[in-house]
Amino acid sequence: MFYYHLKTDSFTSLLTLYEFGSETPQFSEFIFGKNPLIEHLSAEQHPFGKSTLLLEKETSAWCFLDEGEMKVYSAVHNMELSVARDMFSANGKHDITGFLIQLYWLGLIKLAKRSFVVPETFAKGAVTQPGPLFILHLTDSCNLSCSYCFADSKPSSKRKMTWETAKKAIDLILAFPSEHGTIEFSGGEPLLEFDLLRKIINYTNEKSAAPGKHYRFNLQTNGTLVTKELAEYAKTCHLDLSLSLDGDAIINNYTRRFSSGKGTYNAILNAMEILGNGVQNFGVICVISRKNAHKIRYLLEHFRSLGLVRVKLNPICKLGRAIITWDDLSLEAEEFLKVHTEYINYIIEDPQPIIDDNTYFMLKNMGQKMHSYRCMRSQCGAGITFFSIDPLGNVFPCDRFRDKQSLKSGNVETLESLGDVVLKNASVKKLAGRFTEEIEICSECSYKRFCEAGCTYETFYNSGKIKAPHPWCPYYKGIYHALFKAVSMDNTLVHKLKVGAEVFQKSWFDNLE
Ligand code: SF4
Ligand code: SF4
Repeated sequence: MFYYHLKTDSFTSLLTLYEFGSETPQFSEFIFGKNPLIEHLSAEQHPFGKSTLLLEKETSAWCFLDEGEMKVYSAVHNMELSVARDMFSANGKHDITGFLIQLYWLGLIKLAKRSFVVPETFAKGAVTQPGPLFILHLTDSCNLSCSYCFADSKPSSKRKMTWETAKKAIDLILAFPSEHGTIEFSGGEPLLEFDLLRKIINYTNEKSAAPGKHYRFNLQTNGTLVTKELAEYAKTCHLDLSLSLDGDAIINNYTRRFSSGKGTYNAILNAMEILGNGVQNFGVICVISRKNAHKIRYLLEHFRSLGLVRVKLNPICKLGRAIITWDDLSLEAEEFLKVHTEYINYIIEDPQPIIDDNTYFMLKNMGQKMHSYRCMRSQCGAGITFFSIDPLGNVFPCDRFRDKQSLKSGNVETLESLGDVVLKNASVKKLAGRFTEEIEICSECSYKRFCEAGCTYETFYNSGKIKAPHPWCPYYKGIYHALFKAVSMDNTLVHKLKVGAEVFQKSWFDNLE
């Protein structure tokens, strides 16, 4: 059985109706009475090789049981504990109390009519870690002309953020009711406006110190304008960087080019050398397209040869220039699922795999009920705790959809607060009201608490519907199935990805003397 320790989930208390005072699996007569009734919840049973996945889809409670454990689990429904103990302790060997208490604390059975994890907690979506995200687009312009750019940026794009607009944006961010948050710089290429970026960070730090607010800073850059000066500054002000690299020189230079047509590979390698892998905190985004999807293992080996330990393998987003190059470059859901499944096989086989951030967060969602990753789900906070501000100060609910004029939700010049953006824009309000439970197919789905019906905005702009499953539903279903299969085969998988939740495999019978 996989016991996953609820005590490692620091927000466990949020998930309970009862204050039991202890998260450690143990039996307490005070809590359960002397001889509690054991009852099943409505857990689904999915066979995975020799194990069975017991999955309570309403709460995302799960564990794997072996054959012997399944026999016990199946037999004890509607039985009093003393009867169940007698039944399985005939030879005086096995006391099943510990096993049942583990199932209880996992949220997989009821004891004395009580359930540790209650479905109502998730009725309005995943329990999430708060922390607002503000994206500032310093410019629309970019020194590259990448073939799938969702912002459609190019050197001829002219819009730049002025200091006056930036200052107004930061004042609104500082007034947002949260003691901390993340400010991300994006574009176009934000390093074309390095002086403005520096001014914004210095101003934010100066103004946030007195009220005791804390902000993290991220920079999304194509990596071609990284200098020693930036590296030094980034270290002193804790600015995290994400660079873009799609593969080796040939692969990368097909999709990521300067406007002259020259490839960016050498410039990005130069940036990585300046930043010094492991010294400066930077990550790499690799967009998976028809040009690199068939070489995923080679790609990962190449990244490793460059000293990288993490990468984010992203599909192409069908916006901006990607609409024009879609047929040439993009993958269908089933094709991307094949690539991602190949990556999962790689992490099982490789003793020190390169970490893909998307896989990391998916496994984290499986291991912890508190979801810490904003994206890839309904109720992601777009327009509520996530704001994208364009160079002219226009506010949008999400970075990806800033070309959708109907989502424009005021301007920093006139907005009194970012807090009521959703209420002011009818379209954003409507989209923010999409809940997994209200989508018929999703509400029945085994993996609904992990997938959460996918991104609302992508669903709407691809299908014209709000209350519909995400267009990449087959991918989500397939990838969660593949992840469960992988975990059933190799319990070190989760450790390899350094997920917060502690998961380990141990047969209940093996553990008894
Ligand atoms: S709207 Fe979609 S793309 Fe934007 S943050 Fe939400 S889930 Fe992600
Ligand atoms: S989009 Fe598909 S995988 Fe996701 S919750 Fe809905 S039915 Fe399940």
